[in-house]
Amino acid sequence: MSLSLIAKTIKASPTLKLNEKFAILKEKGDPVIHLGGGEPKSRVPMEAILATVAHVNTGEVRYAPADGIPALKQAIIRYTEEFYERKVNPEHVIASGGAKQAIMVALQAILNPQEEVIFPAPYWVSYPDMAKLIGAIPVPVLPEDGTFYPRLKDITDRVGSYTKAVIINSPNNPTGAMYSEEFIADVVEFCEKKDLWLIMDDIYHRLIFDGRKPINCYKYAKKFDENSKIILINGVSKQYAMTGFRIGWAVGNKKVIEAMSNIQGHQTSGPSVVLQKAAVAALNGIQSGVESLRATLENNRNVMIDLLRSFEGVKVTKPDGTFYCFADFSVYNKDSNKLSEFLIDKVQVLTVPGKEFGLEGYLRLSYCGTIKDIQDGIERMKWALDPNSPNELYIGDRKLVRDWS
Ligand code: PMP
Repeated sequence: MSLSLIAKTIKASPTLKLNEKFAILKEKGDPVIHLGGGEPKSRVPMEAILATVAHVNTGEVRYAPADGIPALKQAIIRYTEEFYERKVNPEHVIASGGAKQAIMVALQAILNPQEEVIFPAPYWVSYPDMAKLIGAIPVPVLPEDGTFYPRLKDITDRVGSYTKAVIINSPNNPTGAMYSEEFIADVVEFCEKKDLWLIMDDIYHRLIFDGRKPINCYKYAKKFDENSKIILINGVSKQYAMTGFRIGWAVGNKKVIEAMSNIQGHQTSGPSVVLQKAAVAALNGIQSGVESLRATLENNRNVMIDLLRSFEGVKVTKPDGTFYCFADFSVYNKDSNKLSEFLIDKVQVLTVPGKEFGLEGYLRLSYCGTIKDIQDGIERMKWALDPNSPNELYIGDRKLVRDWS
């Protein structure tokens, strides 16, 4: 079949594929544990549910402005003031179908084919494919010192005449690493000096632990308003557990936001008005749910880290935020795809192979589920991988027998 060259280079999202696999196994009644998930299990804010129902009940669910309804833009403006101490206007804001679409239209608005976008590795699975979708070149950079914390030099070493943009995601999916204030300051300053676009993917910025405070990238900017080349990304998916509502946004200079709106207008005509109303309610509503989610995740992180630290051979870095832990399982198998497959087949635990995030030998384990899922999941993994474990393991009344060594 004569598919396009671009289509041939794009893979299915591995995390979405995993969710499908989980649903199929679950439907079959298999006792599968999902440690590969990317969504909190807390309840969607009640205000958001009521706003959704109220709007549907009007019976008037119509087209809305491609760049977002005024009420959502106002809520985003207020959010930007609260967390970034920056006053912006509606023309500096676009609401999109998730942070994913906001990033996608941003890349479409700023990159030409063959131009390069740099981002630290390990990276969120979608960045490379998003760049490829527009014929641009993704340039992942692994920190030279072997940590999950890049230094400015890691980035500057890769900047060349084709470099157009840098993406920074902190705290980071998949490592949970929150980059230092100093690093963010350096990157902002460097991008301004080199006239590069800087996409700040702040989708997890409030889900941070150990008393950390969200970092405000604008604090280090010298160029504001129409001179700013920072595109700030955020959304309701993670902090309000509203992944299925598909609302994210971007804040940037008027010209880039206008270009993004034009592109989005032709792609989807903008996100659904019903879901925008829900996002307005979440953003303007009681915020205690965000803090209780954050505290739950911190506790879950502690449980997972303790279990992984007692897992022989496994190396872990304590995550500073998000709900992911990126652990080195290379002593068991250097091929993370094979290892992940093995864990699904033998003990029905879903994990995401590190290779998908640009680092082989690692697995991404999520702690956004229940403590029981974390404990049982890691216990099953230990049983499957440790050659000294007993021959049998019971999962409910099912008996698993080790037939591998
Ligand atoms: N950026 C990062 C780093 C993410 O992990 C995700 C979701 N997994 C997104 C963006 C997209 O989020 P949304 O659901 O708002 O599209």
